[in-house]
Formats: sequence, structure tokens, C-alpha cells
Amino acid sequence: TRIGRKKDREVNVQVLLRCRPLTDDEQKSNLPRAITCNEHKREVAVLQSLTNKQVDRVFTFDKVFGPKAQQRSIYDQAIAPIVNEVLEGFNCTVFAYGQTGTGKTYTMEGGMRNKGGELPAEAGVIPRAVRQIFNSLEAQNADYSVKVTFLELYNEEITDLLAPEDYSRTSEDRQKKPISLMEDGKGCVIVRGLEEEAVYSANEIYNLLERGAAKRRTADTLLNKRSSRSHSVFTITIYVKEATVGDEELIKCGKLNLVDLAGSENISRSGAREVRAREAGEINKSLLTLGRVINALVEHSAHIPYRDSKLTRLLRDSLGGKTKTCIIATVSPSAHCLEETLSTLDYAYRAK
Ligand code: ADP
Ligand code: MG
Repeated sequence: TRIGRKKDREVNVQVLLRCRPLTDDEQKSNLPRAITCNEHKREVAVLQSLTNKQVDRVFTFDKVFGPKAQQRSIYDQAIAPIVNEVLEGFNCTVFAYGQTGTGKTYTMEGGMRNKGGELPAEAGVIPRAVRQIFNSLEAQNADYSVKVTFLELYNEEITDLLAPEDYSRTSEDRQKKPISLMEDGKGCVIVRGLEEEAVYSANEIYNLLERGAAKRRTADTLLNKRSSRSHSVFTITIYVKEATVGDEELIKCGKLNLVDLAGSENISRSGAREVRAREAGEINKSLLTLGRVINALVEHSAHIPYRDSKLTRLLRDSLGGKTKTCIIATVSPSAHCLEETLSTLDYAYRAK
């Protein structure tokens, strides 16, 4: 079965597939590999012996990265062009989608701590994007400002990952306010009550990121693997002064959202999908709605159901229209994960 790609219409959604290496445990278990990647042909084949089909199932994507692919090559090939669009004043979003344990956080964050100004080889999309943005702004000698937010969406509720720990106790006027989503009437999304930090260097962002990522990890240990059920959204907004006309300043504004999605096993395509989705209450609403929104965009539907979840409302001004969207679907090569892998391949394929 060869599953091709729709070529006829211009769609600003790019879908990449990344397969991580086998873990030590997977290697020890001696289970067969379930899939093979052909980066050159941009194909992933699911071995026929495992699917009761006569032939291998082959999926084609915009790009395929096998187990040996380095963080840097994924960034340079797929993400750097998107960041250039953001620097040109567009809003763009990169998602990591996949089963828990397949490398979403590794792909988005990787090793973030920079030693002596250099990023480690395992640095993921976020630190590399930050570096590219500041390198470019500094090279242009631009008059710019950069703001970042970092939030987590869990159970359709937003938690600010950059808020100081004792937020609610420090002072009266900084009492913990509920975070709410609004639109400004011009199509822009505003998140009320969120800490928005102005930053002036890549290093400042790395420190914020560390703080936010650490907060997410803490919540993880306290709340039974919360991160597998929550989405984290890191947003960088760039304002560049282009010109002054009279007393009016012309500002070019671009926004980049880097999203580490909840584990896709929460919406497994197994027959239990609806039951499980209901069981999990609000947890999966955003993931399910995101799939519908992307399908609707790709199909050029008249109605895009942005309003159906917090995540899609949050990203509304950065999904569809002139924006660029990149989905990095992550899978494990192990036969042990086959069912989830097929589910991810199907989801990602439908997004094209
Ligand atoms: P997820 O966020 O999807 O649950 P993680 O990013 O936490 O998955 O990855 C699970 C484990 O696999 C981690 O220990 C991570 O370092 C490792 N890992 C994931 N992808 C890769 C890769 N491409 N190369 C090396 N190690 C990886
Ligand atoms: Mg993770």
C-alpha cells in the first residue's frame, strides 16, 4: 500500500516524521524493528510481517528523519526556514506530536544548557531557534524587542511556567489571577494574566527556559507523569522597527510557537477511543481538536473549529492563512510500539 501526498493545492502545513533510535531496553528485548526509514525517498515503511498485509505499508512525508538524524540537521533542514519567516513578520507554529517516550521533548528541548556560549549537539528546536533569532537580529543591527511566554495546558487549564513560585503570596496586586484567553478584534490572541518577559539576549531566554522546564518536571513527579497529558507552548514574539514615517513607527511583528504536545496515546485509534477520551475528560480535547483544525485547514474547509479547544484558541492567530505550520511526528522503531506508531503515522499523514 503506497500512501502518497496531495500535491495539487498549496498548503502551509509541513509534516515531518522522526524515528528515534532503539533504547537500551528495547535493544535488549530483541524484539524486531517495526519500521524502516528512507530519508532520501522521504518514506517510512511498516514491515508487512507485522501488519497482516501482503506488502509493507509505506507512508510518504515532507521529510523523514531516521534514528541517526542529528538535532542539528533536523533544525537546519526543516526549522530554520520557518524561523526566517517569523523574522519576516509571519506567525508560525512547530508541533511535536507522538506517543509518550518517542522523543517529543528531546526534539523540542533536547539539551538546553549552553556551556560557554555554545549549544550542545543535543540542543533541540527551542534553543536553536532562540539562537537563530538573536543572531539574525544582531546581524541586522535592528531596533528590536523580543518577548517570550512559556505555558502549560493541562485539563484545558493554563499554567504559567514562567510565573515566580510564590506568585500568589508576594503582593496584593500580583495575586494569582486566572489566566484567560481573549481576542483583540483584529485577529490577534491575547492571554490575560500571563507573565510576558522581555528578553535581550539568547542567554536570558535559556535561563527562562530552564526555569520553565524545571517547573514542568516538578509537576511531573508530583502529578503522575503530568507532562504526558499536558501541552507546553513556548512563544517568542519579535518586534522589529522598520521605519519611522512622521511620528508613526512601523513595527514588523512575527510570532513563533513551539509546542510539545501531550502524548498521542491519549487518543489512540483503538476502539476505545471515545470511551478513553471521555474518561480523560478535558485532557484530550485540545489534541483531538488540533487534529480537526489541521484537517480542516488542509482540506480548505469553510469552517475551522478553532473555538473547540483552548490550544486551538491560543494558537488561532498562528494556524492557517499566511502562517506556516510544521508538525514533527515522533515514533519508536520498536515492534513493541507498533500500534501507537501506526496511529501516529495515520494522524500525521492525514495532516498533509
Ligand atoms: P516524549 O517527550 O515524547 O515523552 P522524550 O523526549 O522524553 O519523549 O524521550 C524519551 C527518551 O528517549 C529520553 O530519554 C530521550 O533522551 C530519548 N530520545 C528520544 N529521542 C531521541 C533521539 N532522537 N536520540 C537519542 N535519544 C532520544
Ligand atoms: Mg515529553
